[in-house]
Amino acid sequence: MEYLINLYNAAKKIGFYDEIRHITDVPYPEMVIDGKRFLCFCSNNYLGLSIHPEVKKAAMQAVERYGIGTCESRWIAGNLVILEDLEAAIADFKLAPASIIFLSGFMANIGIIPAIMDSFEHFGLPTINNENNLIIKDYLCHISLIEGSRLSVSNTKTYKHNDMNHLEMILKRTKDKRKMILTDGIFSMDGDLAPLPEIISLAEKYNAMVLVDDAHATGVIGKNGRGTPEHFNVEGKVDFVMGTLSKALGGLGGFLTGPKEAIEMLRIKTVPYIFSSSIPPEQAAGILAALKIVKEQPELRDNLWRNINHFREGLLGMGFNLLNSETQIMPVFIGDEKKCAKAAKILYEKGIFTPHIIWPAVPIGKARIRCSVIATHTPLQIDRALEAFREMGKEIGII
Ligand code: PMP
Repeated sequence: MEYLINLYNAAKKIGFYDEIRHITDVPYPEMVIDGKRFLCFCSNNYLGLSIHPEVKKAAMQAVERYGIGTCESRWIAGNLVILEDLEAAIADFKLAPASIIFLSGFMANIGIIPAIMDSFEHFGLPTINNENNLIIKDYLCHISLIEGSRLSVSNTKTYKHNDMNHLEMILKRTKDKRKMILTDGIFSMDGDLAPLPEIISLAEKYNAMVLVDDAHATGVIGKNGRGTPEHFNVEGKVDFVMGTLSKALGGLGGFLTGPKEAIEMLRIKTVPYIFSSSIPPEQAAGILAALKIVKEQPELRDNLWRNINHFREGLLGMGFNLLNSETQIMPVFIGDEKKCAKAAKILYEKGIFTPHIIWPAVPIGKARIRCSVIATHTPLQIDRALEAFREMGKEIGII
């Protein structure tokens, strides 16, 4: 206990602990914090669907019908048919043979990685030699993929971010192992894309599986919003695509798509699926409505990309460093933690809510303001934010 208290005081002193904002209302793209309206430029609610009238209506009807929770794991008595409907709708949307849902994207990743990789010592079923397993992950992949790898008994290696030579070097040296490559589709703190076609051809060459975390890409990228495999025209070539229901789809939950038999096996092999309650039925209902909107209203995605281009061009035009961002996630790179905290504070005082991102979300010394635009920002709101960024950039001397 004393250690935690000392740690708290020390972290606060050097700027690694910050008060979290208390948000009372969320009229996206605005948020109400301490009674004042802010323009939010940090949300993952990329299509604004969490507050879409049709999504809310579907969720409310489900509350009327089922109440607010299943109070059980799917495996015992929580397998409501609406959850199966959601899995079918996700598989249909992603053009995948099958899908399985989890309580969150994080839960999905910490469950599926050991479940895919490790042997199942059960009732005389077939086993594999765990010593011959290797997980190879991108240096910048999401922490949930890293934690999932830690929970597996597989060996783990990390390749330099998006460095295909390094990935190949690792694959070459470990020819005889059962291997899986892990990458984000859109990287969550940098906003750049994984080179999926290259990863897939290396995986084919060296007989490795590929799992792509498309949390930020689902509903956002690809002509139909099906994510990075659609964007790169490699649909059907990625073994497993994982995603979340909590970003462009506006709700809560995680999912995995993949081959039917493998997905069915994961239902009895993935620990968080078996031993944790299912997502609540109103989430399933709301997300079913959200998926329908994603399919039927491509103009939402067009608005998002109009906004991405507007904001990105504005920031780049002023001389900000956005790293290699190509998407709705735009890191305004600052580096120094204290300077970055100051930048976020200046923006906040100007009515723009964009927290500074520091370790452990990014490496030490790589602090940034992680901005994201959403489909429902208006061009005027984006101009207002750009003006605030200009003033902030001048004030702290980075442009
Ligand atoms: N993967 C990535 C790339 C993420 O950015 C996140 C959440 N920020 C997750 C997984 C976890 O998703 P969830 O919020 O649904 O737990």
